[in-house]
Amino acid sequence: MNLARRQFIARAALVLGGLCILPSNLLLAAPAEQVHLVRRGENLTRIAARYGVSTEAILSRNKLSSASLRPGQRLVIPARPPAPAAPAAPSSVLAPVLAASRRLDITPGRWTHLVVHHSGIEAGNAKAYDGAHRRRGMENGLAYHFVIGNGRDSGDGQIEVGPRWTRQIYGGHVRSQEMNEHGIGICMVGNFEKRSPGRRQLASLYALLDHLRGPGLPGRAAAKVTVHRWVDRNHTVCPGKRFPYSELKRRYGAVA
Ligand SMILES: [Zn+2]
Repeated sequence: MNLARRQFIARAALVLGGLCILPSNLLLAAPAEQVHLVRRGENLTRIAARYGVSTEAILSRNKLSSASLRPGQRLVIPARPPAPAAPAAPSSVLAPVLAASRRLDITPGRWTHLVVHHSGIEAGNAKAYDGAHRRRGMENGLAYHFVIGNGRDSGDGQIEVGPRWTRQIYGGHVRSQEMNEHGIGICMVGNFEKRSPGRRQLASLYALLDHLRGPGLPGRAAAKVTVHRWVDRNHTVCPGKRFPYSELKRRYGAVA
């Protein structure tokens, strides 16, 4: 049965039954949408941030005139609007991440930040950096959780999943131990002091960030997006002056 027909029948039943139910109780979620059950202490701003949609979109979708919610209330969360001029990554780039994530049992709240890096050199891939980090004395090897290739030693936009992600262990990509413990490290291969990241590399970065912050991951790694230089102030230029910081802020409200 299609959606319009279901909604029509639901409304007809309401009228026939003579019940007085708030219209929002009858809203049915379309396939790309989700239903959220409001819990005690939650507010609209927090719910909107969690799903990456605007508070206005939720209000309008649920035909609500006020932002005050009550525990137990059901909200239809509209699908996220596509970002304008977003370079789309082919769905296959996320395949290794999805395959790895499916096997993981991620503790909710385990990851609070997503930290973007560049490698500072054009050569290398997850395996090469793993070797380099071990030679530097890091017993867990590759300091990042993910590496996004530039087409030289791995595919252009290819996302490699590191063992720190599959083992769900802390990273070694920033100075602060606290941030390493709770920050997911994402390294883009290249030197973005000298050139801008490639279109495919960026598309893969956004696809990965969307996935990690979105509902696609068990346990919901709802996390703030940031970059290395904002975490380790005055210690690094990573990920380089040619990295599109304003776009990261626009998409994710990235925190400096
Ligand atoms: Zn870095």
